[in-house]
Amino acid sequence: MKIFKKNIHEEKDLNVEEYGNIFTGLAVLFVFTFIIMAVILMNFVVDSNQINSDNLASHEFNYVVQDYNKNIGIFGKNTIRDLANEVIKNKISSHNSADEIKNNLQTILNDKANDYYKNTGVNFKSEVLSVYNGEDPFHLNVKTLVTATKGKSEYNHVVETKISIEELKDPLPFLMCKEHPTLFENGTKIYYNDAISYYLSSKNLLNPEVYENATSPLFIRKCPFDPYEHHGNKYGMKNCIDNGYFHESADGGCYLCRLEGKATCFHYGLETFIVPQAVSSLNQSSISGSDHVIFYDNYPGDTIVFYEENGFYEILILDSSHGAKYGMN
Ligand SMILES: [Zn+2]
Ligand SMILES: [Zn+2]
Repeated sequence: MKIFKKNIHEEKDLNVEEYGNIFTGLAVLFVFTFIIMAVILMNFVVDSNQINSDNLASHEFNYVVQDYNKNIGIFGKNTIRDLANEVIKNKISSHNSADEIKNNLQTILNDKANDYYKNTGVNFKSEVLSVYNGEDPFHLNVKTLVTATKGKSEYNHVVETKISIEELKDPLPFLMCKEHPTLFENGTKIYYNDAISYYLSSKNLLNPEVYENATSPLFIRKCPFDPYEHHGNKYGMKNCIDNGYFHESADGGCYLCRLEGKATCFHYGLETFIVPQAVSSLNQSSISGSDHVIFYDNYPGDTIVFYEENGFYEILILDSSHGAKYGMN
């Protein structure tokens, strides 16, 4: 009986020990689970921080690349402007304007790459691939291979940039009149003095004196009259001449060729009017006043009055085909 009792007691002790073991086991499991979960959670936080900072880095990187690509257009226009001003100042035509613009832009982009690296840490390497006429003669296109890297971010694209040539100076008159350069620029116009009459005389062309004190636009500006026949409406031509507009022309020189001293080329190009001074009597014909005709084709035209005030006539000399193009016949 006593033994039996003792056995029961022993059995009871054993049960307590078993429960203790189970509790210890559970506690260990719980702590272990907690540690694993903490580690997983921490990893998750670290990962998402990494992803956030990667996102931020790539967002900033894209922003810098976009800014750089936009600036190619600005650097490109400055390059073209500098070349035009140099050609005008020295009266020496560019041998290959597209190549010159390409090389000068390359130099600028190399310089700017240092600034970009200093300011943003983005490493740019660019190669200007080509400079060529745009879809319309008022634009030039530049193709650039842009490579950029920073950390894990990379960019590698051929970027095409369309550059407006509006507000750049027309270099052609300065090159064509370089033998007798009495012309000068004054604000928005070129005043020819006797430069064109000298030029026409030297080629024994008809009535050069008509073009004494003639003018033409200094800056390339796109004529808004569309279609061009609207120049024939009341003050259309007067408005065009006063504002110094340029027009699209299959025969006129494109801007790249103008920089090379070519009044005409096989590209789709530009033409503007060379305007005689106002006259009080109308009886002269001379060379037609489209700039490619004055400086290259040299065919004659007749006087057309586009404005009259106080007995003075503002005139153009136009051949019949240019007259028809501008609605002036
Ligand atoms: Zn016009
Ligand atoms: Zn051309």
